[in-house]
Amino acid sequence: MIMTDIALVTGGTRGIGAAIARSLKAEGYEVAAVYHGNDAAAARFKQDTGIPVFKWDVADEAGCREGVAQVEAQLGPVSVLVNNAGITRDGMFHRMSWDHWRAVLATNLDSMFTMTRALIEGMRERRFGRIINISSINGQKGQVGQVNYSAAKAGVIGFTKALAQENASRGITVNAICPGYVDTEMVAAVPPDVRAAIISGIPVGRLGEPQEIADAVAFLASHKAAFCTGSVLTVNGGQYIAN
Ligand code: NDP
Repeated sequence: MIMTDIALVTGGTRGIGAAIARSLKAEGYEVAAVYHGNDAAAARFKQDTGIPVFKWDVADEAGCREGVAQVEAQLGPVSVLVNNAGITRDGMFHRMSWDHWRAVLATNLDSMFTMTRALIEGMRERRFGRIINISSINGQKGQVGQVNYSAAKAGVIGFTKALAQENASRGITVNAICPGYVDTEMVAAVPPDVRAAIISGIPVGRLGEPQEIADAVAFLASHKAAFCTGSVLTVNGGQYIAN
């Protein structure tokens, strides 16, 4: 890789995104990590890693354009975008509120538009880019209590496949990763009995580690992955085997 490559990771201050940001930094990228509300976690992450943090809402189109401009003014043109920020608002669909539907679709799917749109023209002009979108096993198979999240994450897969085709001739690859259950605060929030049931359904017998997702991202970001575009990489301990 070129030592000055700049990588932007949304949701890069906690959980999987923090592992991704650390890994890309270790690979030699200059990294920017975007977060939304948890200032304390972002400050800790910045202090631990030296990675600059930026605060905006990935669901806010104008905010993303302004934020990306700020990152590029500070660090330079972004060549690797990791669309990782995501939230859940779980509940059975017949009781789901419009607010919970909109929040999940906005953060997990609208963000594909807002962030990628803000960066793709520059990538096309420079004829190089790596876009890596974090979907989910539940976008592949659907999950009870997560109609909103499953719909958004399935949307991420369609977005990835179409965008990959539009941009392949411009040196830009677009890929999705579908993690299974990974040991982060998002999963820690589920009740212990549900967590035990989840683990019993994973053939390798454990949750994934954030680093295992970060390693897959580092590969897809690298020049070694130049022929890999429009793919959906499952990293789920064998819990759901499909493509
Ligand atoms: P966490 O909840 O641990 O971290 C989420 C990160 O996203 C935080 O940095 C958070 O910022 C940021 N974020 C949330 N909303 C916004 C927003 N509107 N604008 C900007 N940043 C935002 O999540 P995980 O690490 O568990 O998940 C990361 C990704 O992986 C998500 O897309 C998730 O859906 C996906 N995934 C996770 C799985 C798991 O088992 N954990 C399984 C499959 C997929 P802040 O700290 O300020 O809140």
